[in-house]
Amino acid sequence: MAELNVSELRKEYRTAAESLRVLDGVNLELKSGEDVSIVGPSGCGKSTLLYILGTLDRPTAGSVRLDDVNPFELSPEQLAVFRNRNIGFVFQDHHLLPQLTVLENVLLPALAQGKPQQDTVDRARELVVAVGLEGRISHLPAQLSGGERQRVAVARALLFQPKLILADEPTGNLDFDNTQKISQLLFELPAQQGAMLVVVTHSDWVAEQAHRRMRLHQGKLQEV
Ligand code: ADP
Ligand code: MG
Repeated sequence: MAELNVSELRKEYRTAAESLRVLDGVNLELKSGEDVSIVGPSGCGKSTLLYILGTLDRPTAGSVRLDDVNPFELSPEQLAVFRNRNIGFVFQDHHLLPQLTVLENVLLPALAQGKPQQDTVDRARELVVAVGLEGRISHLPAQLSGGERQRVAVARALLFQPKLILADEPTGNLDFDNTQKISQLLFELPAQQGAMLVVVTHSDWVAEQAHRRMRLHQGKLQEV
């Protein structure tokens, strides 16, 4: 059973002139299949928190454990593999590679490790269908709408059936119709495969879709 344990997480940014405390004792526990939304004003540290949960940045203090592994104790090589296998990211601006097709973009986490195996390609095709893009599988990102691009990003995040999906304002650039569609995929697909989901959002509507709703306030998470 997958589990995320975040304990007394702190993050300070030190510049020459000053030190900025962004996270000041964040605690969070999630179990397999659970989701949480996090809201808070711009600049309060939401992306900082997601980056640390995603092992893309290190905390100043406190711990993160995913299935009892502390990723910050791994070597850089081990950490890269751990992140690739266990964590899926969905960002506001999709981060698709413009020269790759829809299918290739979904396969990107596998392409990083060489030629993908046939079962991985099959899974990528299934995910393209699951997000409703079977008619666009050979399109390039420039040939897709904003909502379609974000659906590709959701499919890609799920390729290796990660334990943890992190979404940073995934509907930030979308109209309400696409916000609803992306949100529905995000709250359904990871849960179906037992993944945990953390969604940072400015949209009250998206936040309300989550089973647990939290606010980042003065460096701490509060139940809403
Ligand atoms: P949010 O995602 O909630 O808008 P961020 O996590 O991006 O907020 O940023 C939180 C605060 O930390 C902001 O005040 C930002 O300016 C600051 N910050 C973010 N990254 C850095 C960095 N690398 N160095 C110094 N300050 C940073
Ligand atoms: Mg942010």
